[in-house]
Amino acid sequence: MSRQNELTYLDNNATTRVAPEVVESMLPYFTGKYGNPSSTHRFGGAVMRDIDDARRKVAALINCDPAEIIFTSCGTESDNAAIFGAVEALGADTTVITTKVEHPAVLQPCRELREHGHNVVEIGVASDGSLNFAEYEAALAAPGKKFVSMMWANNETGVVFPIARAAEMAREAGAVFHTDAVQAVGKLAEVDVSRVPVSMLSLSGHKLHAPKGVGALFIRRGVRVKPFLRGGHQERGMRAGTENTPYIVALGCAATLAQSELANGAMERIARLRDRLQEGLLKLPDASLNGDGDARARLPNTLNVGFSYIEGEAMLMLLSDAGICASSGSACTSGSLEPSHVIRAMGVPFTAAHGSLRFSFSRDNTDADVDRVLAVMPGIVAKLRALSPFVN
Ligand code: PLP
Repeated sequence: MSRQNELTYLDNNATTRVAPEVVESMLPYFTGKYGNPSSTHRFGGAVMRDIDDARRKVAALINCDPAEIIFTSCGTESDNAAIFGAVEALGADTTVITTKVEHPAVLQPCRELREHGHNVVEIGVASDGSLNFAEYEAALAAPGKKFVSMMWANNETGVVFPIARAAEMAREAGAVFHTDAVQAVGKLAEVDVSRVPVSMLSLSGHKLHAPKGVGALFIRRGVRVKPFLRGGHQERGMRAGTENTPYIVALGCAATLAQSELANGAMERIARLRDRLQEGLLKLPDASLNGDGDARARLPNTLNVGFSYIEGEAMLMLLSDAGICASSGSACTSGSLEPSHVIRAMGVPFTAAHGSLRFSFSRDNTDADVDRVLAVMPGIVAKLRALSPFVN
């Protein structure tokens, strides 16, 4: 389907195509089952049962109790709610620990907490994007109340943080641990909160073939979090407001699809496509991998390559002219000519940082997509290098 209208879509970390089954699942809730799930009549009650069914499906994907899932409007809301809600519950003078490579949906709230007087520590990464555990351990040794927000997998490089180990260390230090798993859910089977002792986890529908504008926050039973939308009793009083039934049902359907794709080897197939593209692109002159060289330490669908002496944005435009969608960073940072904060935190040399491209796959991609990129990239790189003031 990625070849529909001659489009090779390799920007699935920005957003994914909604699965046809997911579209089907949500349609009855616009004109048929449109009752308010909080109504006393049976017409509304039936809708509430469908919301609970979706809750069970999302819970099954990450292996938690359905009562621990709160539906939200997006990954950003889940992140904001987790950070502000948990730190508000912990109270003044909390040490807030995060990393330099988080999505802005985590970095901005944490930086705001600094303005509210909390001690905010941003942990660095090595040149391959891996976490600096010594810094993390030192931050956890701080006295008093502690809150950690650490992403499961990086949206730009795909680098996976060892969340099981990090969450275990946080538990031993008595810290509340939130993970932004927006890019990891549905891609990594180890996202299983029955095994990994995170206190909270954010996920987003549009990264796993559900529509944009729906997400969820897992809050482990017993973790104290202040309600984030005050009003009615919906979502156990944590997030008031009439539920977005069609989108919640869609997220449930997408979660079930993701679970069966994970079980049937879709990610292994995607990883093979990604690896073939990586091998081909790294043969080009002055091309280098951004992220861990061990492909198993990255998301199976993500590849980030730096092409020295040329601008990522210029490559993106030429790729786009050839019908190929990629990205030069996260969706929020592309459009600016500054290298992303993630690439800068890794200390990638200036010349390669500016020429970084991200290709992110989904189950809709095929070998034909890889062939197409490999066919055009040598020409694009050669053309732009010929114009580059840094070459010759
Ligand atoms: N966190 C990560 C790691 C992301 O990649 C994104 C989106 O790109 C978000 C959070 C925000 O999710 P949403 O677009 O659903 O608000």
